[in-house]
Amino acid sequence: MTNFLENDQKFVWHPYTQHATERDPLLIKRAKGASLYAQKDGAEFEILDMISSWWTCTHGHSHPELNKALQDQAENVPHVMFAGFTHEPAIRLAEQLAQHMPDDLSRVFYTDNGSSAVEAALKMAYQYWANQGETQRVEFLAFDGAYHGDTLGAMSVSRGSGFFSLFEEFMCQVRMVPFANTWHVDQDIIKKEELALAALEKMLEQHSERLAAIILEPLMQGAAGFRFCRPEFIKAVVERVRAYGLLVIFDEVATGFGRTGTLFAFEQVGVVPDMICLSKGLTAGYMPLAITITRQSIFEAFLGQGFDKALAHGHTFTANPLACAVANRSLALFAEENTLQNISRINAEHVRFMSELEQNHQVKHVRVLGSVLACDLVDDEGYKSKKSLFLKNWYQSQGYNIRPLGPTIYLMPPYCISNTQLASAYACLLQGLAQL
Ligand SMILES: *Cc1c(COP(=O)(O)O)cnc(C)c1O
Repeated sequence: MTNFLENDQKFVWHPYTQHATERDPLLIKRAKGASLYAQKDGAEFEILDMISSWWTCTHGHSHPELNKALQDQAENVPHVMFAGFTHEPAIRLAEQLAQHMPDDLSRVFYTDNGSSAVEAALKMAYQYWANQGETQRVEFLAFDGAYHGDTLGAMSVSRGSGFFSLFEEFMCQVRMVPFANTWHVDQDIIKKEELALAALEKMLEQHSERLAAIILEPLMQGAAGFRFCRPEFIKAVVERVRAYGLLVIFDEVATGFGRTGTLFAFEQVGVVPDMICLSKGLTAGYMPLAITITRQSIFEAFLGQGFDKALAHGHTFTANPLACAVANRSLALFAEENTLQNISRINAEHVRFMSELEQNHQVKHVRVLGSVLACDLVDDEGYKSKKSLFLKNWYQSQGYNIRPLGPTIYLMPPYCISNTQLASAYACLLQGLAQL
């Protein structure tokens, strides 16, 4: 019999993993609803997926309707190149998404992961200006603590995340501005926002002619530690950068598809960006797919008689039909299954648990947004926190996929999770803290 874990050790290189010290990964044999099922010591071991497999799984694992959509599409067109050819799933998805967007945000560019959606947005913004003769707009503005992905441009605008300091010399030109993060009972938020906005204003006064766009995660910075901000702050930021003519890119790769309580986070902010990047929840955790949606007016700046004004960008698996078919079905499920109502239910449970968690002396800065609950360990040790590694392993041994990000513990469950499952995860979270 094949020993898969032994072969994993020999042949596989896992992402964001220190292979010299980390434990063997769990071998997952099947997944259903909010649960993963691993093979462990010859028996099946159930794990509640409390972070939705890196924030992708929305309706639950192996949903019958999504499985069917995938199978049906495989019978028709599994894949076809997307230049010179098109197909119904991609056309329908673009139309559906455009209908959820305000103003003229109606042009969908397909890629296949969040970093690439960001990369495409950055290149679009850069070339948008170049196509109009403004070739000096070659820099970008991003927030401290932002995370937009791992490819070169995406990594550059994620300079403030702390993951990529080694690669500074390799990066594109990005200027950083402070982010005003907040939590449930934060007395200083107004002051923090004023300081952040003043720093932004100063940056714009000095450098605006060279800046193409600002990129930001609305309401919630994800990978750099689940830092939340008030919608008022994002609105004020957008108004200020617009006054200096910059384009506005919202990276909703993590916040999209209900995570913050509305289908998209921008709905709560009350401003319309010029581009939106979507990926993680787009195919409900099934397939790699991403989009950059932009305004018709921006699209028109790329029209011309020669190729020189066209966007020289596109990936081989652009708009993969299998992925688009699942994304279409997933979007329809939001309406059919009243998913947003389900998210309010999860939110209400989180809010109830928040007051209990606030009594715990191991954690601070407790916060809830939509389906996300987060808090920070009191003695903050950064991304390499030993406590955080201990907790990850302990939670896993108890059958919970709760993976602290540095000192930040968070829950982001699939929307199909039941109140009983949530209650058991809360209890486990507290028991883990008691082991410290
Ligand atoms: C995960 C993430 C990305 C990168 O997406 P990948 O699919 O991992 O490349 C970009 N932006 C945000 C906000 C993310 O959370």
